[in-house]
Amino acid sequence: DGITLERVREYVWEMPQTGDMRVPARVLASEALLEEISQDRTLEQLRNATHLPGMTKHAICMPDGHQGYGFPVGGVGAIDAENGCISPGSIGYDINCGVRMMRTNLTYEDLQGRERDLVNALFEAIPSGLGGGGVVETDVDTVEAILERGVDWALEHGYAVEDDLLHCEDEGVRAGADASKVSEKAKNRGKNQIGSLGSGNHFLEVQRVTDIFDAEVGDAFGLEADQIVVLIHCGSRGLGHQTCNDYLRKIERHHSGLLNQLPDKELAAAPAGSQLAEEYYAAMNAAINFAWVNRQLIMHRTREVFADVFDRSWESMEMELLYDVAHNIGKKERHTVDGEERDLFVHRKGATRAFPAGHPDVPRSYRDVGQPVIIPGSMGAGSYVLRGGEHSMDVSFGSTAHGAGRLMSRTQAKQEYWGETVQAELEDTQQVFVKAQSGATVAEEAPGVYKDVDEVVRVSDALGIGDKVARTFPVCNIKG
Ligand code: 5GP
Ligand code: MN
Ligand code: MN
Repeated sequence: DGITLERVREYVWEMPQTGDMRVPARVLASEALLEEISQDRTLEQLRNATHLPGMTKHAICMPDGHQGYGFPVGGVGAIDAENGCISPGSIGYDINCGVRMMRTNLTYEDLQGRERDLVNALFEAIPSGLGGGGVVETDVDTVEAILERGVDWALEHGYAVEDDLLHCEDEGVRAGADASKVSEKAKNRGKNQIGSLGSGNHFLEVQRVTDIFDAEVGDAFGLEADQIVVLIHCGSRGLGHQTCNDYLRKIERHHSGLLNQLPDKELAAAPAGSQLAEEYYAAMNAAINFAWVNRQLIMHRTREVFADVFDRSWESMEMELLYDVAHNIGKKERHTVDGEERDLFVHRKGATRAFPAGHPDVPRSYRDVGQPVIIPGSMGAGSYVLRGGEHSMDVSFGSTAHGAGRLMSRTQAKQEYWGETVQAELEDTQQVFVKAQSGATVAEEAPGVYKDVDEVVRVSDALGIGDKVARTFPVCNIKG
């Protein structure tokens, strides 16, 4: 509806500030990606997001952007932490949905001929689908410990080693988590889902490294051509979803004045400093911890499966966590804006933190090269490992893309594709072994429903917000 963008420079497009917009908006994309981004409500949602009080500099859409609940997926909104607000829908229902990559010292050759055994064993051992249970099924007290202690809890109970914590965003423990701010209903939904993939877009994928673009950084990340790695994508399951829902309803009721000023109810926000802003932040931090434990337990189980299938210890296969990074998250961070230090609630929804070399929040082992950024593609395309680029702080509040980004709705996908056919084609033409709880999921996640990940990553690299380090390709994939 008449949204025009002005080209600022290559891959940077600006939506000028008009009407009640508090700041301009920017889209980071090539012309081809911008064309795709313009086909759904993404630009309208991006414009709406600039109405949020305290939005700083500009609301940003990443090259993989597409429409979401209120705020676009692939959106970054840095909002003043003192005079602005916090908006749960701009962080996402799946709080701390994210990805982790585990290295191994196996090569593709070690796996060839055993893909079927491995995919079956993984599918058998790792809970997935609706009502598939969890690696740990427990009580509300244990859930509360997990909510407040994150991966420290997993370490204490033998599901993690020290090194795993060092290679996780926030070292696997988000401070400021308060389990008492998470509802009983949410905790009850979570108690049997700890260590579970869930359904739909979440997956576990065994991959081989096909390309190394930067040998020095690849070395620092412990990656080399033909190496086998494991990528795990999932979030906080029913617990996070319930938490987002609980606070959206509360915020809509208690802050209806602010709500009425916003162009879309789905952007419902609590003013910074209000009780609900504080409570939501504490509950969100708790859900973040839950998601990290979720991915940790899945990784732990994966180590056991590999040990079983290859009849060696996981330590001897050097199955170490490369990095775990969130892509649906809100965090109070300090950023320099127009020469001034500011405290901001950075909302990253379908966007990945991409801090550059030297940033104190980058784990020590990667501090000289920048944090690892993991960008999944699809079960029939490459995925990427990037490193935070030197321009990310200036261009995108230290962020980049989180995937290829959806091109086709789930409903449309089920009309276009048939799960069994997609699965057979992947196996016959690309030697990718997929196993899923439901054929519908395979259809909804067919490679053709996603944008071109190579193009997304090319833009990130060209802008210097996330630089290409390595590319991988699927070998085995399990889904809900
Ligand atoms: P989201 O978090 O938005 O659901 O998904 C993140 C990204 O994961 C998507 O944009 C898509 O590019 C990627 N993706 C979805 N399914 C698969 C899969 O089975 N394998 C890989 N490697 N990537 C996937
Ligand atoms: Mn998710
Ligand atoms: Mn996700």
